[in-house]
Amino acid sequence: MLGLMQDQPLLISSLIEFAERHNGDAEIVSRRVEGDIHRSTWREIASRSRRVANALDNEQLLFSDRIATLAWNGHRHLELYYGVSGSGRVLHTINPRLHPDQIAWIANHAEDQVLCFDLSFLPLVQAVHAKCTTIRKWIALCDADKLPADSGIPNLVSYEAWIAPYGDTYAWPSFDENSASSMCYTSGTTGNPKAALYSHRSTLLHAYAAALPDVMNLSARDSVLPVVPMFHVNAWGIPYSAALTGAKLVFPGPALDGKSVFELIESERVTFAAGVPTVWQMMLGHMQANELKFSTLKRTVIGGSACPPAMINAFQQQHGVEVLHAWGMTEMSPLGTLCTLKNKHLTQSQEQQTAIRMKQGRAIFGVDMKIVDANGTDLPWDGKSSGDLLVKGPWVVKEYFKGEGGDPLVPDEQGRGWFPTGDVATVDADGYLQITDRSKDVIKSGGEWISSIDIENIAVAHPAVAMAACIGVAHPKWDERPIVAVVKKPGCELSRDELLAFYAGKTAKWQIPDDVVFLDAIPIGATGKILKTRLREQLRDYKLPGV
Ligand code: ADP
Repeated sequence: MLGLMQDQPLLISSLIEFAERHNGDAEIVSRRVEGDIHRSTWREIASRSRRVANALDNEQLLFSDRIATLAWNGHRHLELYYGVSGSGRVLHTINPRLHPDQIAWIANHAEDQVLCFDLSFLPLVQAVHAKCTTIRKWIALCDADKLPADSGIPNLVSYEAWIAPYGDTYAWPSFDENSASSMCYTSGTTGNPKAALYSHRSTLLHAYAAALPDVMNLSARDSVLPVVPMFHVNAWGIPYSAALTGAKLVFPGPALDGKSVFELIESERVTFAAGVPTVWQMMLGHMQANELKFSTLKRTVIGGSACPPAMINAFQQQHGVEVLHAWGMTEMSPLGTLCTLKNKHLTQSQEQQTAIRMKQGRAIFGVDMKIVDANGTDLPWDGKSSGDLLVKGPWVVKEYFKGEGGDPLVPDEQGRGWFPTGDVATVDADGYLQITDRSKDVIKSGGEWISSIDIENIAVAHPAVAMAACIGVAHPKWDERPIVAVVKKPGCELSRDELLAFYAGKTAKWQIPDDVVFLDAIPIGATGKILKTRLREQLRDYKLPGV
């Protein structure tokens, strides 16, 4: 017997319809490439996304055709999020920090039909446009009078001129909720990039879950700043969850330096912000140097790579901002776990609470996780046993676009498929996940594992260290030994021995790195994470002392 409730597909268009009707006045504020601060509302975004849909129809674009963007966080990008997916096309957000050859490869692989780009990426578009064989329409996200006359891109049109002829009357089509809505390529640290292809259903379920009180806890009373880019896993789903809750959205555009981000938080009375640790490092540095304080910020979700305890403490203790440490990946839309306390933790000491907040947190309803040993046998949730982390759920990939890389899932005894995350983790009895490493970054010393994340966290807790990356170096006796590459804070002095002495008592003796390598910069990838592959190449000729 089937239930007798209405069969209504979960579609992205329903989010923008809801936001318009119920929270139409809530603001959407964007710092634009042009440098100005642009003010809009959910009502206006809804209206303009319908004009986008009309313009797409007029281009004879078919259902599931891919529309690409190379764009910062801003109102026009948001209009494309809804206009493209709502009308049944697939929004392909391209990461502009990738190498131009990789961008062309991705655009061709996705068979993108249209590319919408911010003018700051014009040189990049000029470099790739001849290589992109499927794109037939190039759109610059700007006013008609800002379009450069000599762009070198044939038939380039401004976004405003492109949507100008169309009214905002448009009936969002209804279709299967499992239809593709957007796509995002993984950064492809090994082999060619592979795309996660999200559906309307997966996006809506993720949007619901992300807004829950023990997740991002979003509401119509929040002013939300996604510093995490809209080209990086849909800004962790915030553009959708904000529509679902009616939150105000504040977009930083290209200005991600500490000063600009801080000023925007203050001027737009931001209550909730989201970003990777490197961005917050810049902002906290700016605040410390200028003795600044937040007046409205209450919570910040930090993820994408491990959030160092020193950062959690700085936010919590110096600024009274709650840090929500989160873990996820492109293949998971991206949220998997997020760290909030349980009732029983509230009576614990500050130190004990911080120890919990350093973990990546508890699974969000919808995500099932397990850790297994090398034979695939389940490991206990005791906070000590560390193993490969596998996940499943309605917003986790089952395969990559065009079947790249074959079937990624690992079946269990019941035949259910689990996605191997490539992360190594422990889970404690309360269900808190702690990522100890990427499986390829774990250091294996004398048969024991050393977590590169632990080594890095200790180094960045030193007041003279701006950034640290730990890698394993081949050793004749121990197989591998850890070394730590360090970038000092400007104007700070620090010696190898001083830093090594700083490790004493903070970790087991045998886990203390064998050496410190001081660098001017550590290579950062397209999503703001340390590129250990590049660092290893850079230190190829490095020799351990005394070996
Ligand atoms: P990429 O394209 O670099 O894989 P993702 O955002 O998909 O980009 O990266 C996912 C990976 O990032 C995870 O598998 C994990 O290794 C790492 N990661 C994400 N969040 C955290 C976190 N809070 N702590 C530690 N590692 C994290």
